[in-house]
Amino acid sequence: MSQTIKQPRLLILDDDPEVGNFMVAIAQGVNFEALATTQAEDFFQALETWQPTHIALDLVMPDIDGIEILRQLGESACSATIIIISGIGSRVLEAAYRSAAKHGLTVTDTLPKPFLPEKLRSLLINSRVALASGFSVTKAHRVPSAQQAVTVVALITAIEKKEIEVWYQPKINCKTGTPAGFEALARWLHPEVGLILPDHFIPFAEQSGLIDMLTDHIFDQALEWFSTYSSQSDIFLSLNISAHSLSDMQLADRIMAICQTHAVATDRIILEMTETSAMTDPTTTLDLLTRLRIKGLNLSIDDFGTGYSSMIRLVQLPFSELKVDKMFVINVAQSTESQNVIRAIIGLGHSLGLRITAEGVEDQAAFQFLQDEGCDLAQGYWFARPMNGAQAAQWQLAWPTATLESSQLAKP
Ligand code: C2E
Ligand code: CA
Ligand code: CA
Repeated sequence: MSQTIKQPRLLILDDDPEVGNFMVAIAQGVNFEALATTQAEDFFQALETWQPTHIALDLVMPDIDGIEILRQLGESACSATIIIISGIGSRVLEAAYRSAAKHGLTVTDTLPKPFLPEKLRSLLINSRVALASGFSVTKAHRVPSAQQAVTVVALITAIEKKEIEVWYQPKINCKTGTPAGFEALARWLHPEVGLILPDHFIPFAEQSGLIDMLTDHIFDQALEWFSTYSSQSDIFLSLNISAHSLSDMQLADRIMAICQTHAVATDRIILEMTETSAMTDPTTTLDLLTRLRIKGLNLSIDDFGTGYSSMIRLVQLPFSELKVDKMFVINVAQSTESQNVIRAIIGLGHSLGLRITAEGVEDQAAFQFLQDEGCDLAQGYWFARPMNGAQAAQWQLAWPTATLESSQLAKP
């Protein structure tokens, strides 16, 4: 019945009217119609007359318990997507989840109280996608491919269970051949699917409103790792910032708080963002980037040469580094065109006072070219692939002897 209604509708049953109103506001914020009820009788009446596409159900209420409601919903062959909420612990929530499955109901997730508005918001946004792909409690446990594995529920769980790890890839000083820093790159170590690369889940996190949660998790983990090294050497840490975060004025404060927690000086951090993302909303972006610079963080334009850029804007925005996209670097030894592009970017960047990093260095010829052209830093598989924290620490200890000799770099 409810599948024919275009406008999604959320019906809430929670004996606490404040919680109900709070959820109504969140749902309306993501274009749901929403109605809160506090009594089972009103709830069942609205179910009949209002025909919701989604139901948020509190398990513990004084006049009727949530399990009984689920049973009645099952009997009436309710096809709405259900979110189970409660403050009584995850084991009871899981039991309710299973019980709902037995009644043939579609439960998109369970939501322990207190919950973050962001979590409910994401659930609601994604539940339409989930419904369309046939995700339900009965199907939830056979998740074979990486694409199917990436759902809002799975991503939130992965963040909470620390399945999303940060790996590190070194950046090498072209003049000295020594490590200058590391770039933090997200990796999802999924218990069933295995390794999921960021291209499969970062864009999804951006679309489903989970990117801030993910960014915080990655920053926290990376800075904890980095805090061990930053006091021993002068290396820096680069972190990727999503285009979607560049309109969030709280971003600077959140990053500052994470730096303080781990006692990492902000001038050791470089935030990488694509040129396209940094150029879209000029005023907000300029404000945000300036705030970040004032707080001491360094800013880098990623994937340079592939996106849209305005030279004027580039000069105006407070960047300190420019990263040449790997598509020009990978084949530089064979392509005169790539050589010309890289030469031009290095000249432009240096004339603007920017440090130039080239990523995608896969052979010695590419590194030699970059050294000859005066590029500042190089990054790529020829030096090292991204490694987990322990491996990256080992790698740095072994440098320059083992790695330098094996990759036949010119010694400083
Ligand atoms: P990116 O920022 O351009 O990162 C560089 C990508 O190039 C990484 O892919 C890295 O593994 C790969 N790479 C490095 N050296 C070489 C090389 O020599 N040859 C080749 N072919 N590739 C090389 P990865 O780790 O799969 O990341 C893909 C993209 O996902 C990143 O591109 C970045 O845009 C995004 N990403 C990764 N981690 C995060 C994160 O924590 N937050 C955000 N917002 N985005 C992230
Ligand atoms: Ca990057
Ligand atoms: Ca890049």
